Amino acid sequence: MASRVIPVDPFDLVIFGGTGDLARRKILPALYRRFVAGQIEGDVRVIGAARTDMDAAGYREMVGALLAETCAAEADAATLQAFLAMLDYVTIDARGSKGWDELAAKLRADRIRAFYFSVAPVLFADLAERLQRHGLSDGDARIVVEKPFGRDLASARDLNRGLAAHFDETQIYRIDHYLGKETVQNLMAIRFGNVLFEPLWNSQYVDHIQITVAEAGGVGGRGEYYDQTGAMRDMVQNHLMQLLCLIAMEPPAKFGPDAVRDEKLKVIRALDPVDASEVVRGQYAASGDIPGYTSEVGRPDTTTESFVALRTHVSNWRWAGTPFYLRTGKRLRERASEIAVVFKDAPHSIFGAEAGRHRNILTIRLQPNEGIELGVTIKEPGPGGMRLIDVPLDMTFAEALGPEEADFPDAYERLIMDVIRGNQTLFMRGDEVEAAWGWTDPVIAGWDRSGERPLAYAPGTSGPDEALRLMTRDGRRWREIRP
Ligand code: NAD
Repeated sequence: MASRVIPVDPFDLVIFGGTGDLARRKILPALYRRFVAGQIEGDVRVIGAARTDMDAAGYREMVGALLAETCAAEADAATLQAFLAMLDYVTIDARGSKGWDELAAKLRADRIRAFYFSVAPVLFADLAERLQRHGLSDGDARIVVEKPFGRDLASARDLNRGLAAHFDETQIYRIDHYLGKETVQNLMAIRFGNVLFEPLWNSQYVDHIQITVAEAGGVGGRGEYYDQTGAMRDMVQNHLMQLLCLIAMEPPAKFGPDAVRDEKLKVIRALDPVDASEVVRGQYAASGDIPGYTSEVGRPDTTTESFVALRTHVSNWRWAGTPFYLRTGKRLRERASEIAVVFKDAPHSIFGAEAGRHRNILTIRLQPNEGIELGVTIKEPGPGGMRLIDVPLDMTFAEALGPEEADFPDAYERLIMDVIRGNQTLFMRGDEVEAAWGWTDPVIAGWDRSGERPLAYAPGTSGPDEALRLMTRDGRRWREIRP
């Protein structure tokens, strides 16, 4: 089956922070890959804008070296040169006047104009204000903002106000790259494109849902940032909440930005507050050569969590009685993220007790090896009576689609193209982000009040034992963290 790449309209994209880590590791390689795929063509310009003193030739050289190193296998030298020819650069100060007239003069009114705020959030309002002052915020302009979007409800509101003073909500694209993952979108296709699942998608048939986002690495070079943040703010408030919303939401009337985001917002608003007895927070300890969290961040007394597990409920007709278990952490057994929808036992086993206990589990794997699997119970082949086994039914259909279709773009590629197409469906709306903070804030405030230290866990495990007990006391078990 041939790959279908539909080129986007010509655009000017300005990357504020175009020399920074995110631009180098994600944004520029993503643009390059879409260029190689033929989705970006014609009169397109990508303008790096950052504090670093540099000219266009210097920027091309920097980006050329970077792509030659990271994407060498993806295209020949001529293709790389053609991409670099689209690049330009402006030295700019987000808080001053330097560079703004030059930037405004470079941009063309008859083009889609996108501004990627790949800078610290303290600069968001300054950038928005200067864009408007220079006549660059008109209806067709759009801005892309990165996480973290605030560190609590109050700061998220401030950020929203700072942007709303200069841009309409329909122009603001808040990125959560989890939403750009192929499998996450496939989850919506499977739920709403088939009649098979939706009738079972409720507390009558679903025993519980577990969402795990596990990382094997520690905080690495991000220690200072991470220690100000912790797992609850860094992962739960955004990525895990978004996944929970997509699993739990009602079918939207159509696959459009507000229809989808309205339904997600209703889920967040229906979440029960998390009681202290339903949440476990942990911090990895040292083991052998592996440094513990406190020494990695250089703060022996820090109480920031590198692990969270919690149980919550979506209090509505569909989900009353079905718990949602969420866990995320660093230095866990493997780097593995998945959502598991665990269905209830068959109401009566005609095969007798010796057939054992079997359950259908729909697993949505996000990393590594994105894919969707449905565990079904079948008879074990061969003679020997009616013995039952569970086998996975692979629902990713890589073989049926062919290698080209299965080789899908990464999340940043898809999301940046959505920005250019003006499709906000996979981006978070301001009220969603605020509602998510409204739910996480009391949990964090409870920890702050208690003054207790997070529970220590050994690197390479599934986190503190108390996190396992969060489920075993309900007669359930976490799935193994495996790739
Ligand atoms: P970085 O420190 O590597 O780069 C910051 C960039 O901002 C540089 O290009 C710098 O020149 C520019 N800059 C700083 N002050 C400026 C000013 N006053 N005027 C103009 N330009 C200025 O940061 P980063 O890691 O690339 O992160 C950028 C944003 O993306 C942050 O909000 C970060 O939280 C977020 N983010 C980063 C990652 C990542 O993997 N790096 C992941 C998710 C989100």
